[in-house]
Amino acid sequence: MLAYIGLGSNLKDPKAQIKRALASLSNNKAELISVSSFYESKPLLEIPGPNYLNAVCKIETKLSAIDLLDLCQEIEESQQRVREVKWGSRTIDLDILLYGEQVISNKRLSIPHPEAINRAFVLVPLFEIEPNIKFPLLGSIKDLLERINKLDVNKL
Ligand code: ATP
Ligand code: CA
Ligand code: CA
Repeated sequence: MLAYIGLGSNLKDPKAQIKRALASLSNNKAELISVSSFYESKPLLEIPGPNYLNAVCKIETKLSAIDLLDLCQEIEESQQRVREVKWGSRTIDLDILLYGEQVISNKRLSIPHPEAINRAFVLVPLFEIEPNIKFPLLGSIKDLLERINKLDVNKL
């Protein structure tokens, strides 16, 4: 299965955090296919804290969607992510943006990631690596990008 994961960090050397998480995404059940450039964005809702570094990667994996979520959460834990306030600063965040063309909605998992289509720091890097991708039910990334402010994110 092909899947796309959004990565974000604003604490403790964000570039190193993202690189470390990308390395951890390659194991015997998942292979990293491509990675976007790194982008800088401001915290959501003007929550105080350092700016974020974001990237999107494409993986090929034998893992089920829920097992992929477990892997993402194991990586977050291994990088000492602490959850304090919602959308608060974090060492690393891994969101499953797309899992093939599947639509998933259960207690632990919503795919496509529900906020992906509203976020420049997701759509802009995803477009960079996959300009022809379509979101199931939601349409082409080109159309989705036209609805948002692309200036919310800066390519490094
Ligand atoms: P947001 O989801 O708005 O980007 P966040 O990334 O800060 O916020 P987290 O605290 O990282 O939110 O995750 C909260 C929960 O979201 C996780 O425990 C997970 O079960 C759930 N979740 C639902 N859909 C997804 C998805 N597609 N990818 C990752 N986590 C998801
Ligand atoms: Ca997130
Ligand atoms: Ca998350």
